[in-house]
Amino acid sequence: MSSCLLSILLLCSSVGVSLAAVTFLQPLTIVVSLDGFYYKYLERDLTPNIIRLRDEGVSAPYMINIFPTKTFPNHFSIATGQYAEDHHVLDNKVFDPILNKTLGYSEDLFTKGKSTVPFWIVNEKSGNNKHSGVMMWPGGDFKYQGSLPTHGKTFEWNYEFNKRVDTVIKWITNSSAPANIVFLYIEEPDSSGHKFGPNSVELNNTLRKVDDTIAYLETSLKNNRVHNYNLIILSDHGMTSVSLEKVIDLTKFLTNGTYDFDTATPILGVSPKKGFEEEVAEKLKKASSQEGSNFSFYRKDDIPDEWRYKKSFRAPPYLLVAKHGYVFNDAYETIKEYASYAKRNLTPNSIFGLHGYDPSDKSMLPIFIANGPSFKRKHTVKPFKSVDLFSLFAHLVGADIRSYSHSGDFRRVADLLAVQADGKSDASPGFSAPSIYLFMFACWIGFGL
Ligand SMILES: [Zn+2]
Repeated sequence: MSSCLLSILLLCSSVGVSLAAVTFLQPLTIVVSLDGFYYKYLERDLTPNIIRLRDEGVSAPYMINIFPTKTFPNHFSIATGQYAEDHHVLDNKVFDPILNKTLGYSEDLFTKGKSTVPFWIVNEKSGNNKHSGVMMWPGGDFKYQGSLPTHGKTFEWNYEFNKRVDTVIKWITNSSAPANIVFLYIEEPDSSGHKFGPNSVELNNTLRKVDDTIAYLETSLKNNRVHNYNLIILSDHGMTSVSLEKVIDLTKFLTNGTYDFDTATPILGVSPKKGFEEEVAEKLKKASSQEGSNFSFYRKDDIPDEWRYKKSFRAPPYLLVAKHGYVFNDAYETIKEYASYAKRNLTPNSIFGLHGYDPSDKSMLPIFIANGPSFKRKHTVKPFKSVDLFSLFAHLVGADIRSYSHSGDFRRVADLLAVQADGKSDASPGFSAPSIYLFMFACWIGFGL
């Protein structure tokens, strides 16, 4: 093998091709997140391009996301391979007991996981000439291990999807620092799902729109002569219908001034005021066990282990989780906002969309589709966990992730790959079929020199 490598180096130097160029022949990886794309939306036959990529490539019926099924926690788990209790992004808005304040989208929200490193940083640290591009992906704006990705853009509402694609193409074709992996975030169909509900005409129109964005991405790559790429299309969670007819009014059970609420419907953190710890717990416990209560109550230690949530220093003393389709009092404000953004009249039975419920609720499940030279064709795999993607990305770009802390398992995603890799290794070199053929071809020429 070493003589083969030497031959390649000799060949490269003799024909003036840099080793960087050889490395670049490994397929580019593009990860597109379509926020809130519920896996059953594909059955509506409104997304011909996504369906073609699925049918010709490899897919899972759905992906298993993390608790809570909210946007920031799930996007960050996809990027880091960690659950919420390790990366500490417990929700889109979280009370931090050390900083003693509620955090929205901010550096403080994303950067408190001691061993948390998003893959776009891992990629760049895994070798020379590796450059990541992060287009509006939640958490992409902040430094981890002292670094930012080479290419990045902060989230901007209403920034046209095609313009995002144009920028991504510039990163990929950048002559001095071409991106070898890109994370591209699109806030639809989540936004339309919230404002109009998952079964609305507006949502269906948005499905067509995001499908057009995928087609535009493929056309743009082709027009820029980028052919050697793996395209992954995924989402963070699903969506279900809610209305103000199904509000759980917690104020009926609690005494004003004895508690604070934190995080957002359909899960609610409760912090009792000093001296009211047992009173608040007992009242919530009693209310949740009444017939028809439609929510569960947990003291921090009793939160289910499998949610991988309670060990975070930000986990609230008590947690309430609404049952499917139900919402807590804070939904009045949230739904009023959705109605106002959508310019809709608000009545008790107006339908809106919500997510965040337990991931065992199938309406919360997201999509996973992959297409490209590294993946099997016309193949379906068993559902796997979104935290497993970290080791898949490592395989695709050839990064050694043994020194990183993550909860994924490469064996659960190995069946996606065209060339069977060493299932026990998280550090598999990530040679795709075309790069292996190129390698063999180079060896063949190299030996003939
Ligand atoms: Zn989302």
